[in-house]
Amino acid sequence: MLNGALAVALFSQQPSGIPTATPDPQIAAALHEVSPARIQQTIEKLVSFSTRQTLSSDMPASGGKGATAAAKWIKSEFERYSKECGGCLEVRTDEFVQEAGPRVPKPTKITNVYAVLRGTDPANAGRMVLVTGHYDSRNSDTNDVTAPAPGANDDGSGTAVSLECARVLSQHRFPATIIFLTVAGEEQGLYGSGHFAKMARAQGWNLEAVLNNDIVGGDRTPGDTLQDAHVVRVFSEGIPTTADEKQLKTIRALGGENDGPSRQLARYIASVAGEYFPPAAFHPLIVYRHDRYLRGGDHSSFNEQGYAAVRLTEYRENYNHQHQNVRTENGIEYGDLPKFVNYDYTANVARLNAATLASLASAPAPPANARLLTKDLQNDSTLVWEPSPGGLATGYEVLWRDTAAPDWQHALQVENLTRVTVPVSKDNAVFAVRALDAKGHRSLAIVPVPER
Ligand SMILES: [Zn+2]
Repeated sequence: MLNGALAVALFSQQPSGIPTATPDPQIAAALHEVSPARIQQTIEKLVSFSTRQTLSSDMPASGGKGATAAAKWIKSEFERYSKECGGCLEVRTDEFVQEAGPRVPKPTKITNVYAVLRGTDPANAGRMVLVTGHYDSRNSDTNDVTAPAPGANDDGSGTAVSLECARVLSQHRFPATIIFLTVAGEEQGLYGSGHFAKMARAQGWNLEAVLNNDIVGGDRTPGDTLQDAHVVRVFSEGIPTTADEKQLKTIRALGGENDGPSRQLARYIASVAGEYFPPAAFHPLIVYRHDRYLRGGDHSSFNEQGYAAVRLTEYRENYNHQHQNVRTENGIEYGDLPKFVNYDYTANVARLNAATLASLASAPAPPANARLLTKDLQNDSTLVWEPSPGGLATGYEVLWRDTAAPDWQHALQVENLTRVTVPVSKDNAVFAVRALDAKGHRSLAIVPVPER
């Protein structure tokens, strides 16, 4: 390993600024396959079950209505995609009985349906990234299982994103594992995702990233001039839900409130968007907030288990088209109907998800055990880390920014170093390090912990 002095020499030869990554041709090809027409078919099929309300799961699937019929269809879709890729997907269900509780008047069967595209590299297949949407729906009354609850946007759109990512990415192979999940029980209290995330934690899954898509239909109510079909919001927690007292103390002392793992994932999505979309065509709006006011979502279930997880949601929601009985009152149409979904928009959201999943599944693991040395009072900053596990990394990138800057401003690339000194005061900057491979894939950025 090289010493810090050489790293400084390398640094002095490099201009500051974040190098632009080159799009991966395999990923670009996959994004090209994302189809607004297929997404429309998926959403219309989901709406055809009349209601997918979680408490309807005791309706027989043979009747073609209710949550169980919808779950069976989703499973059959994953199985169809798997046939088209030579059996490359492991299609599974996570089924359990939710005990009675808030919004669940009696014990209720909940079925999560998912497909696993196993990583091809044994040293990296244990690394996982996941996309999810909730297939359950509701109308004006949380517990109504009889009146229609079409749920085209909330969350037929997110379910369609998960399915479409599975369809296009299963035509390709990646070193790490990708999981395509659809859950139920969201509207009753995040029960499906809660069960799944706990299972992942109990089984020790190395989930590097979770993308929750909820309300990504890009509501296109006629006359709404404030909707922006070029923007998807990405919500992320700043301080990890699972931070312990010691971590909170460090965050309070040194200003880590904007640098939890979920926020690094949000920044990663923004950088992927810059690689694969002209910004004027489509871009994320990064919101430094866990979720919208008064609202929640399935990413929280994963945050509660200590995983990096974010929520993607359309730019401007129309509340007449969420959680409403289908009806017309005073000339206003209520209800979450397919005709309000912008399928081209949902396709762009699916592309952004697919690009993020594929980039992470192609990239090396993040470097391990990153530390910022703080033993001595010095005006430069030394980072040390352990090599990225899994053998894919060919180098590293040290990132930094002003403490008040929203995103990384400077990058220093090094080959095979695990210790770098940068002539910038740690008191004035936030640092991170990530792993790179020869093709330019980047891992998630890891913020070093201070080491005395
Ligand atoms: Zn929702």
